[in-house]
Amino acid sequence: MARRTKIYEGKAKTLYEGPEPGTIVQYFKDDATAFNAEKRDVIEGKGVLNNLMSEFFMLGLGQIGVPTHFLKRINMREQLVRSCEIVPLEIIVRNYAAGSLCKRLGLDEGTQLPRPVVEYCYKDDALGDPLVSEEHIAAFGWASQQDMDDILSIALRVNDFLSGVMLAVGIRLVDFKIEIGRVYDGDFQRLVVADEISPDSCRLWDIKTGQKLDKDVFRRDLGSLTDAYSEVARRLGVMPNNPPSPSKPTLVN
Ligand code: UDP
Repeated sequence: MARRTKIYEGKAKTLYEGPEPGTIVQYFKDDATAFNAEKRDVIEGKGVLNNLMSEFFMLGLGQIGVPTHFLKRINMREQLVRSCEIVPLEIIVRNYAAGSLCKRLGLDEGTQLPRPVVEYCYKDDALGDPLVSEEHIAAFGWASQQDMDDILSIALRVNDFLSGVMLAVGIRLVDFKIEIGRVYDGDFQRLVVADEISPDSCRLWDIKTGQKLDKDVFRRDLGSLTDAYSEVARRLGVMPNNPPSPSKPTLVN
């Protein structure tokens, strides 16, 4: 069997060349990292859960007309996506105060924000992904003004969609991060939601109990990350209900 070509190995995913030009295979690993990879562990099953949840969110976004890079899920750990040029920004949307916002502005964790707040961080691990303003983005040419208008509108649509989906299953969407890619159709450039959407990149709290169901469980040693992610997947109806068994081969659609 021919060995496939690895394009990039990140903290939680590995990217391989896809079967056709312009496609990429995203492999979801079980590795968990936090605090710029200072804390790391392997959480069995995390990759499978994130693959299924990211598929669920990307398909849902596509259905409401928000373009994404997602093409199809290949198996329990891999999905086929359109290759795109990643805009070097992390786009963060916040509905409630948590994490770095609390530190920066001295807010109590869980304070409801008067409206969704969108922030941009420059993607650079060596610098710790610093917060940047639109002035920096324009001055350094990371994205054009038209791109920024489109990115803001995509980010707010993703926020409305994810907040609604989560609310329906008793979960509060506190904040999340997305990445945006550029795809080219002939001479035209389009922006799409890229990377992944999963509890690795969102803060999710149970509405009734306030229990954390996201990567903060790992960051702060609050219990089993697999249990937290499984609970989100179960509520969304995307738990793998037929885990492959060694004695009984099953086909994965
Ligand atoms: N986030 C992420 N990747 C990053 C930084 C942040 O997915 O490199 C997500 C994080 O999980 C949270 C949101 O973006 O849902 C806001 O994160 P914050 O700025 O509060 O940073 P943190 O406290 O996680 O360092």
